[in-house]
Amino acid sequence: MATKHSDVVVVGGGQAAAQLVDALVRQKAGCFVTLISEEPLLPYQRPPLSKQYLAGTFDTDWLLYRPPEFYEGHAVDVRLGCRVVAISRKDQTVQLDDGTSIGYAQLALATGCRARTLQVPGADVERVHYLRTLGDVDRIRVTIKDARRILIIGGGFIGLEVAAVLVRLGHEVTVLEGEDRVLPRVVAPVVSDFFRTKHAQKGVKIVTGVKISEIREDRSGALSIHCGAGYPFPADAIIVGIGVLPNVELATDCGLECDNGIVVDEYACTTDPAIVAAGDCTNHPNALLGKSVRLETVHNAIEQAKTAAASLCGRNIAYKQTPWVWSDQYDSRLHSVGTSAQHDQHVLRGDPKSGSFSVFYFRGSRFIGVNCVNRALDFGACRRILNECVSLSAEQASDPTLDLRKLLGPGTRLAFERPWPPREQRVRPLLPDREATNDVRVSGET
Ligand code: NAP
Repeated sequence: MATKHSDVVVVGGGQAAAQLVDALVRQKAGCFVTLISEEPLLPYQRPPLSKQYLAGTFDTDWLLYRPPEFYEGHAVDVRLGCRVVAISRKDQTVQLDDGTSIGYAQLALATGCRARTLQVPGADVERVHYLRTLGDVDRIRVTIKDARRILIIGGGFIGLEVAAVLVRLGHEVTVLEGEDRVLPRVVAPVVSDFFRTKHAQKGVKIVTGVKISEIREDRSGALSIHCGAGYPFPADAIIVGIGVLPNVELATDCGLECDNGIVVDEYACTTDPAIVAAGDCTNHPNALLGKSVRLETVHNAIEQAKTAAASLCGRNIAYKQTPWVWSDQYDSRLHSVGTSAQHDQHVLRGDPKSGSFSVFYFRGSRFIGVNCVNRALDFGACRRILNECVSLSAEQASDPTLDLRKLLGPGTRLAFERPWPPREQRVRPLLPDREATNDVRVSGET
């Protein structure tokens, strides 16, 4: 079949893909962009899926990043329900599952992640659900109509947010977590304890240290989860949230370097000068951590997509943002900024019993991250403290009388940000940069 041609082909339909298209069409008038997404719907927000959309308080239209008129107005060729099955870097074409192919001058991969599946016998029965897409939530909503007892596997963001919604809807909810506490990878034990208590007060049962060995469905249709020699957990429906895996197969198959994600540099450039990548699927250098990481956050998807778009437009703007994430459970909003990885000291500000507190993490004397529960001011100040490399000591952090915002301004700067070696610009500019806007910003720019 004949090959069409596009200036930029964007593969993916999530936050990073939507942001990339947005930044591109605003910066490059006349640039012909094609967006290819497996989803049947225009790019939509995922955060409300495990909260408002599951609860039935958000409509599909409210989830869209941009309405259809945006794509029409910018002549973006949107291919929905379409899968890219191969990339030919030699011919600069992508091949679609409908047998057609599209040529590109530049290619952007925003292929995201997919839910990690539970690998135990019986895990493929019908009432075992994963929550990644809008379609997943639609199916969950149908199943839970007739379900009283809901078992959730995984006490991470998905598991806890879903538990908070479902118990409010009147279900009997049990969360089974493999580790000895909830949110083990992202927060300190004091924060895990806070959320565990909060869920218990609302009626959610949380069982930790669980090793699931099997899921059974008997002849009467009763479901149960078995954990070795322990008692089985009966269920009417099961929802699994045990993490995600990056979609790297297209990149790997066409020979791009991949290592727990598509490897990109600080400009979101892959090892092919015509290809950038952004979002959950990338493994990229992180200045705060001083190493490469793969981040599964909305913030990363947005900011890295802006960097990728800038690179496609021939602008060399390094991505160096402090990562942050949020989670809403009942009336508690958790904000995490920076990292707690390899911390050797943490201090508390505020009292967990009051429902408003922060935990600050230090590596040596260096402040590296914070978890804030219902403390938006701490979160806002700490984002700037980390972004602007302002000094913060453990004593200052734990002093409730100190207004953290006062540390900002012309204060002492820490030299902890490890500069990444400058790299020559590797992506060919598509068009002369005649319509540059201020849309692409990096940390510290105003
Ligand atoms: P997650 O946050 O990584 O949490 C998964 C949890 O399940 C981990 O604690 C994990 O422990 C545990 N687990 C793994 N295997 C298990 C097993 N066999 N039995 C019981 N527990 C098991 O992943 P998620 O909750 O599935 O979320 C998926 C993605 O969506 C993530 O990228 C997440 O960041 C994103 N998300 C974010 C938000 C938010 O930011 N508010 C909300 C929803 C979803 P180990 O760490 O030991 O594997």
